[in-house]
Amino acid sequence: MKAPIGTTTQNLCLPLRVQNRSMITITFPDGNARNYEPGISGMEIAKGISPRLASEVLAMKLDGLFYDLNRPVVQDASLVFFKWEDEEGRQTFWHSSSHLMAAALEKCYPGIKFGIGPAIENGFYYDVDFGSKNIIEADLGQVEAAMLELAKEKQLFVRRDLSKAQALQTYMDKGDEYKCELINDLQDGTISFYTTGAFTDLCRGPHIPDTSLIKAIKLTSIAGAYWRGDERRKMLTRIYGISFPKKSLLDEYLLMLEEAKKRDHRKIGKEMELFAFSPRVGQGLPLWLPKGAALRERLENFLKAVQKKHGYQQVVSPHIGQKELYVTSGHYEKYGKDSFQPIHTPQEGEEFLLKPMNCPHHCEIYKLKPRSYKDLPVRLAEFGTVYRYEQSGELHGLTRVRGFTQDDAHIFCRPDQLKEEFCKVIDIVLYIFKTLSFNDYTAQVSLRDPKDTQKYMGGDEHWEKAERAIIEAVAEKGLTTTVVEGEAAFYGPKLDFMVRDAIGRKWQLGTIQVDYNLPERFELEYVGSDDKRHRPVMIHRAPFGSMERFVAVLIEHTGGKFPLWLAPEQAVILPISEKFNDFAKKVCHVLNNSDIRASVDDRNETIGRKIREHEIKRIPYLLIVGEKEEAAELVSVRKQGEGDKGQMTAVAFAAMLADEIKKQQET
Ligand SMILES: [Zn+2]
Ligand SMILES: [Zn+2]
Repeated sequence: MKAPIGTTTQNLCLPLRVQNRSMITITFPDGNARNYEPGISGMEIAKGISPRLASEVLAMKLDGLFYDLNRPVVQDASLVFFKWEDEEGRQTFWHSSSHLMAAALEKCYPGIKFGIGPAIENGFYYDVDFGSKNIIEADLGQVEAAMLELAKEKQLFVRRDLSKAQALQTYMDKGDEYKCELINDLQDGTISFYTTGAFTDLCRGPHIPDTSLIKAIKLTSIAGAYWRGDERRKMLTRIYGISFPKKSLLDEYLLMLEEAKKRDHRKIGKEMELFAFSPRVGQGLPLWLPKGAALRERLENFLKAVQKKHGYQQVVSPHIGQKELYVTSGHYEKYGKDSFQPIHTPQEGEEFLLKPMNCPHHCEIYKLKPRSYKDLPVRLAEFGTVYRYEQSGELHGLTRVRGFTQDDAHIFCRPDQLKEEFCKVIDIVLYIFKTLSFNDYTAQVSLRDPKDTQKYMGGDEHWEKAERAIIEAVAEKGLTTTVVEGEAAFYGPKLDFMVRDAIGRKWQLGTIQVDYNLPERFELEYVGSDDKRHRPVMIHRAPFGSMERFVAVLIEHTGGKFPLWLAPEQAVILPISEKFNDFAKKVCHVLNNSDIRASVDDRNETIGRKIREHEIKRIPYLLIVGEKEEAAELVSVRKQGEGDKGQMTAVAFAAMLADEIKKQQET
């Protein structure tokens, strides 16, 4: 199980049993084993292997549990070291940096109180109650300087265990109600603390050996965050930062951030007139503008065509459903209170919910007629719009919204069909990635926690079969895959896809989820070859995830320079002056007749200005027409990012584009 590093919870490290033996055996990931004196620390073991390893190692895992490198190892164990290159290493580094930031903040603002300070995907944050004091972004430079000062002091992260009562007393004396609350929530037993210089924090660790490894720091932003994510509680100040073991890594990161800013889908979406938000319509509810809607339609048609080939049937279901439907599906119990509240009819006293998922509707469609084993798999697809409540502070462009359209489908199949169906869905996902040039992707298989199989629904035999089916399917398709135990939903194992975009950021796209729960809840059945009734297995799958999220990722990946077949406008014709408007319109007519999305910009503007404006709109081709062009019946072609492509006839240009589009879709 993947345990988050440094979240302030109970000390998970098991007490180390002292063995009555002269030597202990440590086994390394490559299978090699070495003998050591009991009590040797992880750092001493690293030094024995190589001085270089000792200078780079940040944390270790002993028999699957995280430890500080200075903890004595007293019994036989398997040992894994983590460096900056490893996610575990970076997480430990960043969590340690959050302690360093808290130490610096306490120094700059004595008397402040601390919530939690975990590592995140890129860096770390700390939630702080500044009381009557105030901090603004302009103050962050001073905090960074104080952090670097403290880092240079080479402070150790010193661990100490206290009883729950002692721990509580410490924070009651300090008057820190946040830490008291966290401690109260922990089970009885020892609770660990880490001290760095003058700062002590409730923490289960692990931490890096000392602060001097932190060589470069950037505090990136300040935001408000409700204590424990509960909007009824106090709003704390969240300070985000990131740190590195080398200055050059920070420089690279800042450069990437600059590039990310340029590619921000909210900015590009506005420039290209794809989508907008209106406060009157409501936050988190995107409005798709004509060009965006056309783009979305092209994506939908593209997927529909692939799905049709794979035997999917399109269905359409309404945007609301009776509350009972979601009581049956279990969604009401799980999300009802924390989501949009029921809609009531004025006369009949009926209760409806905005649709949070399409699955219950599809289960009802499946149930409408008796199904035989020969009818399966049934694959029902829908571009289904769903509504989910998100706190206003969590909303972000198209990636976190309150209403979105899933490229959803549900496959109802027999258990023996699972693997084949998985392979087919993987084929669709990979086809999409290829066509849209996401060339760097990985997959994650989420399995049960083998130590706690009780909490999962569906029976051992089914789970084992399904897990094996997924693992075999990804192997057959040659996917780079990580397998994580304990990350599966209670109702079934799943496969997630992560893509890396053009500037190295990771996005989760596409999920394939097995479900034993809904068929049970909706009492779905098919008659088997044995003439008996059986439960089908359900697969939820959405290769794009949602149209909103996918378009956002696609914009950030391509910087708005979509492949030609997808571009909202493929060419704009720019007459040099109004004298050539008629010829421009004639060219446009030829192109439109060849199914090319083209228009004429006949505004009374300079040609220079028109070119600049259309470049911002990422128009793939600009066609300039003036006196020479008209006389020769040619257009001067300018390609986005490549510049001048020479002159050609409108017909030749149309043929060139058709060829380019054909090549893109052949992949
Ligand atoms: Zn900590
Ligand atoms: Zn579903």
